[in-house]
Amino acid sequence: MPLGLRVAQSLSEAAGILAADPRARLLSGGTLVMRDVNEGRLTEGTLLRITDPAFRQMQVSGNRIELGAGVTMAAVLANRELGFLHAPARAVGGPAIRNMATIGGNLFAETPYGDFTVALLALDAQVMVLAGYGSARAVPLEEFLAGRARGEARLVAGVQFNRPQNPADFRFVKVSRVKPKGLSVLSIAAHLPGSASRIGPARVAYGAMAPMPIRARGVERALEGKALDAAGIAAARAVALEGVSPATDAIATDWYRREVLPVHLARLLGERG
Ligand SMILES: Cc1cc2nc3c(=O)[nH]c(=O)nc-3n(C[C@H](O)[C@H](O)[C@H](O)COP(=O)(O)OP(=O)(O)OC[C@H]3O[C@@H](n4cnc5c(N)ncnc54)[C@H](O)[C@@H]3O)c2cc1C
Repeated sequence: MPLGLRVAQSLSEAAGILAADPRARLLSGGTLVMRDVNEGRLTEGTLLRITDPAFRQMQVSGNRIELGAGVTMAAVLANRELGFLHAPARAVGGPAIRNMATIGGNLFAETPYGDFTVALLALDAQVMVLAGYGSARAVPLEEFLAGRARGEARLVAGVQFNRPQNPADFRFVKVSRVKPKGLSVLSIAAHLPGSASRIGPARVAYGAMAPMPIRARGVERALEGKALDAAGIAAARAVALEGVSPATDAIATDWYRREVLPVHLARLLGERG
């Protein structure tokens, strides 16, 4: 059977099509799906496009931000209200990729991809999923990623998270060898509410340091309630590698990733807020 294309006008119609056809695959921005098609890895089944405007909607004016799964990196970059997310959006590929690449697709991208997802993890984002293609419910991103690892089939409608009180509370770095659009050696996102003399409940996430983006819980514990001074940063740096299991790939060895992570973490924490 050749590869077919279907169009769903609503998320619920898309959920119905996906539930009825286990070989149907959502085509969002298509930067990864179409690569599979073009390189002959995907030759059969159904590609599904969603034209529902809700899929691309952004609600960014208040403290609670809601982004449809079909929102592209370029759309994030074009929105001034989302300035704190410009660094992770800009980290995804080059301009042509960013025009197509979506937030939803990034949640499914294999490591070392997934740079935007790392930022969402540090923002404690909730993912709106149609689990088993039923009705939408909010799932913490970490739980969503665990489900993805188990191969659970889900349609993502969007993501929600609170805006950092101060944009400088949110920091992101992507380390790559090829500038400006190389793949990640690693990426780090940190949400550090509070003040430089006393950090509140910190959230720190890593990309490319495990099979999926992970929270750096040891670092979070080391930072909470502490000052972001030399001693605080040294304490965080000392536990930077807790829980990591990086891969060796064409970009870097696991050894190299472990070597450079603490250095980049300390630099990120030491940036002036
Ligand atoms: C040259 C190149 C460079 C790249 N550079 C980077 C980079 O630097 N950083 C980075 O993070 N990524 C990078 N990527 C990977 C990719 O472009 C991004 O991760 C992008 O965000 C994927 O989104 P998409 O909409 O294109 O996904 P698609 O290709 O449309 O989909 C990817 C997968 O996710 C599934 N999916 C998509 N949306 C949903 C949804 N809403 N619900 C359920 N399933 C869904 C699809 O069915 C498919 O299995 C690069 C890709 C290319 C080709």
